[in-house]
Amino acid sequence: MNIAEALREMTDRLGAASVESSALDAEVLLAHSLGVERYRLLVDRAAPVDPVKLSSCRRVVARRCAGEPVAYITGRKEFYSLEFLVTPDVLIPRPETELLVDMALYHAAPGAGLLDLGTGSGAIAVAVRKNREDIKVSASDISAAALRIARRNCRRIMGDMPIVFRIGDLFSPFEGKRFDVIASNPPYVDPALKPTMQREIRFEPEHALFADDHGRAVLRRIVSSAEAYLRPGGIVLLEIGHDMRDFILEAGARAGYAVSVLNDLAGCPRVALLKR
Ligand code: GLN
Repeated sequence: MNIAEALREMTDRLGAASVESSALDAEVLLAHSLGVERYRLLVDRAAPVDPVKLSSCRRVVARRCAGEPVAYITGRKEFYSLEFLVTPDVLIPRPETELLVDMALYHAAPGAGLLDLGTGSGAIAVAVRKNREDIKVSASDISAAALRIARRNCRRIMGDMPIVFRIGDLFSPFEGKRFDVIASNPPYVDPALKPTMQREIRFEPEHALFADDHGRAVLRRIVSSAEAYLRPGGIVLLEIGHDMRDFILEAGARAGYAVSVLNDLAGCPRVALLKR
């Protein structure tokens, strides 16, 4: 079997399992199984496929057919044009979250201190530091397993460890410290939506996705505690759910902030900027 034929077989298997992006996923998974870059599949269309690699590709395609996200199968996800390692211990970085990074890079003054709460794979913290070496980046996560991934990503992408990673719930590892920018993509999904969500989501860590009080509990805690960790003139940047615009405007105002909400590329409210 040559590469073009293998690609067709994998696309058909994925399509039969109702995987939406069957052609793209087939390419990514075949390239992963063959250990080559994706463009080689086109260049080497007529080349024969090693039978051992073909069966390993059929196995990973079967996992994708059962709903497992491509990123957990390949162990990689691109975010802000950087390659992050991902495991089921961390949320898969989403393109919407790149807006939060844009805003942090835009609003942080030279030499600013930034704290990323619930860093997960480290995507926000690493993307910020990679693009602004002057920013002093700190990050927390409640999961030791997630922090291990974040540290590995930092070392892989930065070459060393210019970010302070600390284990603990939200602000707790940084008691007594102050920052110019507090950034977070916290869990904000309403647990009641669990049964209706895409099956891919079930592979992701629940504590990174779901929050009580219709998804608002962790956002509320951040908004009500942030003041003690902010320098004068500091800001809070929060990713929010598409239906949380009014909620965050009100919760922020009640805590004494001027709040603006930016939409993502899909036109949904996505990042809230809170200013004292
Ligand atoms: N945007 C993610 C989703 O809807 C949720 C991320 C989060 O809870 N922080 O799948």
